[in-house]
Amino acid sequence: MEKRDYYEVLGVSKNATEAEIKSAFRKLAKKYHPDVSKEPDAAEKFKEAQEAYAVLSDSNKRSQYDQFGHSAFSSNGAGAGGFDFGDFDFSDIFEDLFGGGFGFGSRGKSTTRARRGEDSLIRMNLSFDEAVFGCSKEIKVNTSDKCPDCSGKGGHGEKTCSKCHGSGVETIEQRTLFGVFQSRTSCSSCGGTGHTFDNKCSKCRGTGRIDVNKTLEVKIPAGVDTGNRLRLQEKGSAGINGGPNGDVYIEFIVKEHPLFERDDFDIYLRLPITITEAVLGSKIDVPTLDGSIKLTIPAGSKTGDKHRLKGKGIQMLNSHSKGDMYIVIDVIIPKKLSKEQKKLFEALDNTEFDNNRKEINKYL
Ligand SMILES: [Zn+2]
Ligand SMILES: [Zn+2]
Repeated sequence: MEKRDYYEVLGVSKNATEAEIKSAFRKLAKKYHPDVSKEPDAAEKFKEAQEAYAVLSDSNKRSQYDQFGHSAFSSNGAGAGGFDFGDFDFSDIFEDLFGGGFGFGSRGKSTTRARRGEDSLIRMNLSFDEAVFGCSKEIKVNTSDKCPDCSGKGGHGEKTCSKCHGSGVETIEQRTLFGVFQSRTSCSSCGGTGHTFDNKCSKCRGTGRIDVNKTLEVKIPAGVDTGNRLRLQEKGSAGINGGPNGDVYIEFIVKEHPLFERDDFDIYLRLPITITEAVLGSKIDVPTLDGSIKLTIPAGSKTGDKHRLKGKGIQMLNSHSKGDMYIVIDVIIPKKLSKEQKKLFEALDNTEFDNNRKEINKYL
């Protein structure tokens, strides 16, 4: 048989673009692919189109063909088919045409194996005290439960699937360029479950699950902080096909305290004191997480001095220990003085404090 011109085979002009060639081949492949075509000479036509496309879509081969015609390829290992395109990759075209995974069995992915239900994430606002001491809270979660009417099966009147005899699997043969492939896929009759029903459950429309609005009582442990997540195991959506339920996660947002600043499990309190308290020392009432204490301020305190109260911080999560509390001194220098105060300071000044400026005075 006289070999037809490749351009003629694809029905394109000699100066067709790559896109035109590809598009022409896609049309022919769709028409003549042996898996789908009912035309009597489909296999021949398909092979002819493949050969033409393998040459014309490769710019090197195309220019050789343009110069020498079919004789360009007659000497380089062409077998009975006349042309060797064994190393040519048609897969992108076939994926476009027939869906992902054409010919390689990936259509066998079962959609009906047991799966975990979905997780839910809920954000919860807590006051500083609720986070530090723990608390109980009620939360509402939109989730799903096993359908009570069909016990999660999705239907009534269960029977073994007559197509797959309960195995849930069917074997499909696919012819490709590279040979015949067998792929195992979910049974098209039962969807892979191995059984069918007389009636689909009307309550859950066959899904086996119903939407519910659950209220959960949650115990929040002492010590949680913004960003921490609490996992409520298997309190989420019902599992599918017998899979376990999903989880509910609660993520906390903790409000700041007006006085205490939190650093992990330690807390900091800035304590303003007067200049005389700093100089003379004092005893000052100070709030802590568990009631007030009397803090001794030693004479000669200055701004930035820290007092550590060990174990007066926040309860650590999953531990018996607590963080510490730090009280940070802030000496307030008065900006306004009464006449009397001013006189007293002037009188003090005349007593000449040690100003410790000898080193500086050397340079005067
Ligand atoms: Zn079946
Ligand atoms: Zn149901």
